[in-house]
Amino acid sequence: MAINPVPRRTLPDVVAGKLAASILNNTLKAGSQLPPERELVRELGVSRSTVREALKVLADNHLIEARQGVGWFVRPVDNANFSRARELAQMEREVQPAAARPAIGETPTGPRRLPVAPEKPLHIPNLRTDRLGTFDFISWWERKRVEEAKVLIVGAGALGNEVIKNLALMGVGHLFIVDFDTIEAANLSRSPLYRESDSGRRKAEVAAARVKDLNPNVKVQYLHGDVTTQLGLGVIRRMDVIIGCLDNREARLAVNRFSYWMNKPWVDGAIQELLGLVRVFVPGQGACFECTLNEQARRDLAVRYSCPLLARQNILLGKVPTTPTIASIIGAMQSQEALKLIHGMPVEPGKVTHFNGMVNEMHTTAYRSREDCESHWTYGEIIELPTRAETTSLDEMLKIARADLGPDAILELDQELILALKCPRCRTVEQILQPISQVSFEFAHCPACGAMRETEMTHVITGDESFLNRTLASVGVPPLHIVRAYNTQEYRFYELTGDLETALHFSDFEETSPTHRESIRGRIHLGETVRIEESRSNPARGRVVLHD
Ligand SMILES: [Zn+2]
Ligand SMILES: [Zn+2]
Repeated sequence: MAINPVPRRTLPDVVAGKLAASILNNTLKAGSQLPPERELVRELGVSRSTVREALKVLADNHLIEARQGVGWFVRPVDNANFSRARELAQMEREVQPAAARPAIGETPTGPRRLPVAPEKPLHIPNLRTDRLGTFDFISWWERKRVEEAKVLIVGAGALGNEVIKNLALMGVGHLFIVDFDTIEAANLSRSPLYRESDSGRRKAEVAAARVKDLNPNVKVQYLHGDVTTQLGLGVIRRMDVIIGCLDNREARLAVNRFSYWMNKPWVDGAIQELLGLVRVFVPGQGACFECTLNEQARRDLAVRYSCPLLARQNILLGKVPTTPTIASIIGAMQSQEALKLIHGMPVEPGKVTHFNGMVNEMHTTAYRSREDCESHWTYGEIIELPTRAETTSLDEMLKIARADLGPDAILELDQELILALKCPRCRTVEQILQPISQVSFEFAHCPACGAMRETEMTHVITGDESFLNRTLASVGVPPLHIVRAYNTQEYRFYELTGDLETALHFSDFEETSPTHRESIRGRIHLGETVRIEESRSNPARGRVVLHD
């Protein structure tokens, strides 16, 4: 057996490692200037010459660069310098206290803090009592970030089972699982979370319950429903990563748009027999899912939308033959991409990695981002309202928008509202007034003569409607949704934040329910100033004043 010498770490290496770790975890951001030497000397408790040597190590590894007469600046971490940064960071593997780190996607506030002082002892986890202890030995693993992460898993089929299992084992702290399906015998051959006795139960609910079995420390929530129509955008807004474990293009397109609108990264996976692919999409960085669709696919979508009820019917039927093995491989890769996103590590957005299990070949190619892609749109400032989808009428919502945007403001619904079905043969008209997702395909046929009826529908509310007293929920707006309104100049975005407590809690299957449930006013009374939760970060503060 060969005995490798223990690498000797000099103090400058350790200091360089600390700084490299800070660059990797984004505490020191690309393009930002390093603190001056004397500050580094003080913060790190080392001599000036040690600091200088450490800076030289970082510069030699292309992690920082000098600007004449100004100082040192952090260079972006890319594929070229990433592995070197990680090696350096490994020399200083001490995990820094969470409070000093920015949350995912946030910029650090207050004075810039450098990671842990060099004299802090290495943390040795207790592997008898700490189920996540071994992860602390991974150089870049940040337990706190992983614990605090919020991940939405869309689809609890074969891929979803693998992803959910992996995330629960890794201690990803908050999982939100969405699926509209129920468990049947054929699922049992590829879904390790399901048992024979679960037959007929809801996938999302059973998967969430099994998360608690696998790792009771993980907080979980499930939604038995369709992601395309029943998940409020406010849920997506509060996630760190979205993972799509889907089997159809329509649902992917919806997840893609929602992620783009809320500026969130999403990880797509797809499997068929022994083939699979993984891709990460990050708004504004390369292609999105819609960019990847070819001419024919986009035409297909357009054709389907021309017969809306039939389109929905077909989406629900898609079945693709898969094996549990390819689900393990692709689900594992998706989970790893999510883990990298949680850590702020580099990923390759807009690219696809194909895996062919028949010949064990893997290759990655980049998609081309389309200039005219309709998905490339991110919501602006989101105005939080203390209102709820169940209790707010279209009329009230329109008044809020008009108080803000002027009298010509119009509401735009995400889901088509079916107003009426008209029979071309017997000339009868049936008023429907239901969101398209709640009208089944059978309804398209005339009950009298059987002919296919024409669908009259809308997705805008102009104020002229006869049904303005209807609630947002009744026209298909899900809880905690973000409602769009526009006038001739601009869009504004109103979140139904009154739904927050019930729509997003991560407390399913918790033995003790949260004790500090704040009371939320369900209705806005017209004519008075809307009081919104006092919070410095709440952009709605004082924004909306209603006059009847
Ligand atoms: Zn696109
Ligand atoms: Zn008829």
